[in-house]
Amino acid sequence: MTVHVETSICQDRKAKVPDQQLVFGRTFTDHMFVADYSEGAGWHDFRIQPYQPLVLDPSAIVLHYGQTVFEGLKAYKSPTGKVRLFRPRLNFERMNESCTRMCMPTVDPDAMLDSLVELLRLEKDWIPTAPGTSLYIRPFMIATEAYLGVAPSQKYQFMIILSPVGSYYKEGIAPVKILVESQYVRAVAGGTGTAKTAGNYAASLKAQQAAGSEGYAQVMWLDGVERKYIEEVGSMNVFFKIDGKVYTPALNGSILDGITRRSIIDILRYWEVPVIERRISMEEIREAHRTGKLEEAWGTGTAAVISPIGEFKWQNELFYVNNGQTGELSARLYDTITGLQTGEMPDPFGWTI
Ligand code: PMP
Repeated sequence: MTVHVETSICQDRKAKVPDQQLVFGRTFTDHMFVADYSEGAGWHDFRIQPYQPLVLDPSAIVLHYGQTVFEGLKAYKSPTGKVRLFRPRLNFERMNESCTRMCMPTVDPDAMLDSLVELLRLEKDWIPTAPGTSLYIRPFMIATEAYLGVAPSQKYQFMIILSPVGSYYKEGIAPVKILVESQYVRAVAGGTGTAKTAGNYAASLKAQQAAGSEGYAQVMWLDGVERKYIEEVGSMNVFFKIDGKVYTPALNGSILDGITRRSIIDILRYWEVPVIERRISMEEIREAHRTGKLEEAWGTGTAAVISPIGEFKWQNELFYVNNGQTGELSARLYDTITGLQTGEMPDPFGWTI
């Protein structure tokens, strides 16, 4: 599919924000990628156009019933100007899984990856180079048909927008405090937890807000049936190092299949560190903490890469992990993944393009 490129720049958008002032998700580059879908015609009109507001019918299905999916990945620019993507095909493959769950059309991952590369070629000057900075890439799809019936849309738009982001850890990688959520749930097996769809994130805001007002950075989600088993932490997957072994909740139909999670598991196995994917209860974590075997805990995701956990609060009990400090393995994993992403470290896995 050829991509039509229209590069007239909106007057007031050209100014670049200095790397030091970049915050997550507030600044967008000059151009966006757009493709349209309609029943019968399939995906068509691939184009790169100036970043601009959308024109949507007020009855567009996405606005009423949330038929939409998204992805998140990053591009990194080395000081020599080389631009790298980390396992980007997996994002388009996961997007297709999300689309299937939400009755939306899938995309050709290779065609979308080619379109992304073309957009990045045009916008490469927007990619920051200071340590820890990157260009956040947000592919997403919305249901655009004008119809108030609860039914899959017959029309969609796929878009990619780009946002330069500053360093997640301005003063070095730092542990966070986590509140274990016993009232609200993020997802249930059979629901949409394995899809990156808007409703999951809207549904998470209430618990997140309450945790924030108590001084906690994120909530840790438990299972939706018994509130016993650990699922995820905020919008991240979660890992525990207990007595020399690493544990992470198995993908159970309500947990998102994180690309950082997969990468961490592969790296740990490459290092011959035992990794166990299984159901993990909060009781087990309490016991591991009580017996001094809870050595480290961390979240994983594209935004923070590794987010060490220094403290948990569960039912009015506090558990400190590694005296509230970043653990050795968490730090080594952070350095390794970011080293692979930026190209500072040789990539034995062939993950970066
Ligand atoms: N869980 C949820 C709910 C998420 O939104 C994300 C972010 N995509 C993750 C986990 C981590 O996934 P990834 O490592 O692919 O960013």
